[in-house]
Amino acid sequence: MSLSIDLSGRKALVTGASRGIGREIALALAEAGADVACVATNLPLLEEVCAKIRALGRKAVALQCDVGVPAQVDAAVEKAVAELGGLDILVNNAGVTKDNLLIRMKEEEWDRVIDVDLKGPWAFMKAASRPLLRSKCARIVNISSVAGLMGNAGQGNYSAAKAGLIALTKTAAREYGGRGICVNAVAPGFIETDMARAVDPKVLEAAKETIPFKRFGRPREVADAVVFLAGDTARYITGHVLVVDGGLAM
Ligand code: NAP
Repeated sequence: MSLSIDLSGRKALVTGASRGIGREIALALAEAGADVACVATNLPLLEEVCAKIRALGRKAVALQCDVGVPAQVDAAVEKAVAELGGLDILVNNAGVTKDNLLIRMKEEEWDRVIDVDLKGPWAFMKAASRPLLRSKCARIVNISSVAGLMGNAGQGNYSAAKAGLIALTKTAAREYGGRGICVNAVAPGFIETDMARAVDPKVLEAAKETIPFKRFGRPREVADAVVFLAGDTARYITGHVLVVDGGLAM
């Protein structure tokens, strides 16, 4: 069960909703009452998530889109707005890693991570700005990472993208503040998903020891933070970075 925040009648778009944290965010928003447009590249997985959302009695639309390609982003936002009848909540969650030490990092590894993890959120915020400005309860939540706060060896591209996303969040919070749109970031630590499972198990075990809670987070624990920021109780919070990491980055 999620936090008791009522999002009935709200219309949300979640990127990277086919798996991991994004799937859990889409389901948690729907459990709180929202209709959800689910964006990712894997359409069959998106359809599974949408079926679960419809079973909760909400509207759901699956949108196949590479978030790193602005023309596809524009089309996805247009379709989401048309199918849901507007947009109140944008969650930029889609992300990839292509880890390498700086000395070995290839240009294509740098470019792909910046395109998906930083250009993607920018393109969605731009494409969604008009429908969000028409909403009376607009929210943008960008999923960053503790890597964007601390840096992380082997993740120069990813850390730079996630730090950039925090700066973009604060910029949008300033630009949209006068129009009533709350723009915040969530910075997860290690969360049990495909992304974290791709890390060397020895590195993961060592990392776990540095977390005060001595365990990795669960996707629902990030989703609950997003539902909070999307709800009315967070209406005076903007430009904030909510760290969800079991104490890792403090
Ligand atoms: P994940 O399990 O690998 O899932 C990534 C999601 O992003 C998938 O739904 C994937 O969908 C989507 N995606 C990737 N590239 C895309 C693209 N080009 N266009 C559209 N969708 C794309 O990762 P996760 O752990 O859930 O991560 C979610 C977010 O949390 C990411 O931004 C990540 O950086 C951040 N985060 C994760 C952790 C962690 O420990 N797991 C920690 C800090 C921050 P398709 O494969 O269907 O395209």
